[in-house]
Amino acid sequence: MTSPGEGRRLAVLGAGPGGYPAAFLAAEHGFEVTLIDERAQPGGVCLWVGCIPSKALLHAASVLYDARAAEAIGITFEPPRIDLDRLREWKDKEVVAKLTGGLGQIARARRVRLVHGRGRFVDDHTIRVQADGELTEVEFDHAIIATGSRPSIPPPLRIDSKRVWDSSDALALTEIPRTLLVVGGGYIGLEMATVYAALGTAVTVVEMTASLLPGADADLVKILAGAINERMHEVLMETTVLSLKEAGDGVEVELSGSDVSETRQYDRVLIATGRRPNSEDLGLETVGVRLTNRGFIEVDHQRRTSEPSIFAIGDVAGEPMLAHKATHEARVAVETLAGEPAAWEPAAIPAVVFTDPEVAWCGLTENDARARGIEVEVTRFPWSASGRATTVGRTDGVTKLLVEPGTQRVIGVGIVGPGAGELIGEGALAVEMGARLDDVRMTIHAHPTLSETLMEAAETFFNASPHYIARRR
Ligand code: NAD
Repeated sequence: MTSPGEGRRLAVLGAGPGGYPAAFLAAEHGFEVTLIDERAQPGGVCLWVGCIPSKALLHAASVLYDARAAEAIGITFEPPRIDLDRLREWKDKEVVAKLTGGLGQIARARRVRLVHGRGRFVDDHTIRVQADGELTEVEFDHAIIATGSRPSIPPPLRIDSKRVWDSSDALALTEIPRTLLVVGGGYIGLEMATVYAALGTAVTVVEMTASLLPGADADLVKILAGAINERMHEVLMETTVLSLKEAGDGVEVELSGSDVSETRQYDRVLIATGRRPNSEDLGLETVGVRLTNRGFIEVDHQRRTSEPSIFAIGDVAGEPMLAHKATHEARVAVETLAGEPAAWEPAAIPAVVFTDPEVAWCGLTENDARARGIEVEVTRFPWSASGRATTVGRTDGVTKLLVEPGTQRVIGVGIVGPGAGELIGEGALAVEMGARLDDVRMTIHAHPTLSETLMEAAETFFNASPHYIARRR
């Protein structure tokens, strides 16, 4: 039996969490695959300068926070000594290099050809790859564009200064500044603020809107905001940065907001104001691949672009800009190419903010429901009623289920609390499988675990939780 990809050449442009899974799966289907990326090994932003190194540093932060919090239960440690060189070496060699090197080995084992350099379409069957003055032409029958995204920096904040960081600079961990201004209270801003505050930096966060993590449900954000306010030097809401300039040893920052309108000085400034798709300078116009007005590549349900032989997946193909969304799209695109029935129609894409506490949600949120006029019932279980949360001294969480009235189907899940990112997996499974409240509450969850909070939230809907009496709905 011949495999569907036999005799067909596939070029994958970009080797992040969209591109490398696409390349590996396509090789499994028998395609002759070339994976093109500027970096020495596959992994993309996520493994090299995003999800993975940030989680390594957040792990270090949680060790520091936990050691400090242990004082409350009668265990006191000496103040920590931080060997920044060793911490950086661990992150770079034992985490990032290990994982990216592993992907390189898998690529070779799957007979995926790796080509290093920057690729650009020159016609609808050729990508020209340039690296160190050398040119390679990659011929293809089909291509998948998975070029990701990059930081989007507002024009007044674009200054050429080593003291003004983007997320990659912050992750490089070259120093622990005395003061740091984080511009943007979204995913990246709050994760990096958590890291540097743990390392001892006095961190100020400025957020343009009235809420941290704008878009996330207010009841979840409120709990995180409490912890952030406690750990940061200052959190300035409804504030923007008008200008930046180098001054003395640091950066002079002109702030304008509801509470502060003045010029201040910080050692370093991190800009975390969002990301934009990498859809420029790829020669897309020469192959007839259309963009949306926000610069994302237009795709259909199979992730096919306006040029039928070319697909696009991941950040470059639209929001949410999340690694696991890219990986799932890779499957849809490759299965479509292999002639299998496949479509992009997830009911639940989990989102996780790896702060302390973590915030996670999937499926419908209360904000979405309100905006779209969808009627929902909400059942919440506060972690103050959880045995497990009490034993770990973390009763500050909440688990909530959004329920479709009538059918009692779980259509959304929101969690705030340590480990929320792990717990949301069960929520995503429940939403994706169309589970009803009965399915969740009648599934035996191990005791004592935080996973019980999902079951207890379902029980609470019927006021049947043994540990919590809900107010009458
Ligand atoms: P974001 O959209 O999450 O947050 C940007 C924040 O900056 C917003 O709150 C916005 O209101 C604020 N802002 C914008 N301009 C501002 C200004 N001039 N002054 C003050 N505040 C301003 O973007 P991000 O944090 O840069 O992250 C980018 C993307 O990367 C996210 O959309 C996310 O999908 C992805 N990401 C995910 C994770 C994760 O999954 N844990 C972690 C990091 C990044």
